[in-house]
Amino acid sequence: MYIVPERAIADLMTRKAAFDAVEQVFAAMAAGDAYNFPVVREAIGHEDALYGFKGGFDRAGLTLGLKAGGYWPNNLEKRGLINHQSTVFLFDPDTGKVRAMVGGNLLTALRTAAASSVSIKHLAREDAKVIGMIGAGHQAKFQLRAALEQREFDKVIGWNLHPEMLANLEEVATEAGLPFEAVELDGLKEADVIISITSSFDAILKADQVSPGTHIACMGTDTKGKQEVDPELLVRADVFTDEVAQSISIGEAQHAVAQGLIAEADVAQLGAVINGAHPGRTSAEQITLFDGTGVGLQDLAVASSVVELAVKQGIAIEVDF
Ligand code: NAD
Repeated sequence: MYIVPERAIADLMTRKAAFDAVEQVFAAMAAGDAYNFPVVREAIGHEDALYGFKGGFDRAGLTLGLKAGGYWPNNLEKRGLINHQSTVFLFDPDTGKVRAMVGGNLLTALRTAAASSVSIKHLAREDAKVIGMIGAGHQAKFQLRAALEQREFDKVIGWNLHPEMLANLEEVATEAGLPFEAVELDGLKEADVIISITSSFDAILKADQVSPGTHIACMGTDTKGKQEVDPELLVRADVFTDEVAQSISIGEAQHAVAQGLIAEADVAQLGAVINGAHPGRTSAEQITLFDGTGVGLQDLAVASSVVELAVKQGIAIEVDF
């Protein structure tokens, strides 16, 4: 089997490779060639940690495996380690033998950013110029960097509950040679594309704070109870997701569905747009919303891609197992 340690990922994995892997696996999911297994997530009663598994099988890409890991809230303070910890295990679908063990921390940020980026490619207006960010934490920087590659943006605007963190967004905008402006939530009406990536449990953005023609990627809501936008926005918008079952149970759509404002059938798979089975955006006035819940197959897709790169470059550690 191969081992690709966390420390090797940054030099190996590119945003383009992550984008391609995620776009392909979303397409395979919508075509019925790939499916995610039910998610296991447990509070283990030790170190306040949440631990779990996300797995799946992609018959088209022949990727089988799981990501194991979770959130250890005391890591940073007690041990100088990051709080999110995960490892991906890949198995040979022909034999069941373990194929690879791959550091999953950086890959998680890259695959999450790739998901919203794929949604922007397929759903945002071609002439989008202003990108608005809600959230300015660890993931937000990855999100913004990946999004900026999808359209000819000329300005970044952002709002965050903790304004001191907005410097994170400004840094990425400056890197890309773009101006950055901190705005109030009403100011997001100027945005053609919005990404929300917070750990909020209440709606932040109201439906009337989004202009016609906007594409919004809601990326922070990945657990029951979390929420970033007014459920009314999901009524106004055409809603897309990575995985419908997750969207309506742990994603942003959970609230609109629970309140009876939209039905499961109103949520479409982004993969169907990629495959050409769904028209996606059909007018310049339509609001499109991508509910990115994060699926195991995304992790497996980027891990598989990184193993390939590591083997090619002679960086993968091979062990007899
Ligand atoms: P982080 O701790 O680095 O940043 C959290 C962000 O949320 C900050 O901008 C903070 O100001 C904001 N925030 C915190 N509490 C808030 C509140 N009550 N209301 C509004 N904003 C609040 O976290 P991160 O690593 O950037 O992750 C952000 C979110 O993304 C988390 O909810 C995480 O679970 C989620 N996430 C989703 C996926 C996915 O695939 N969809 C993948 C990874 C992380």
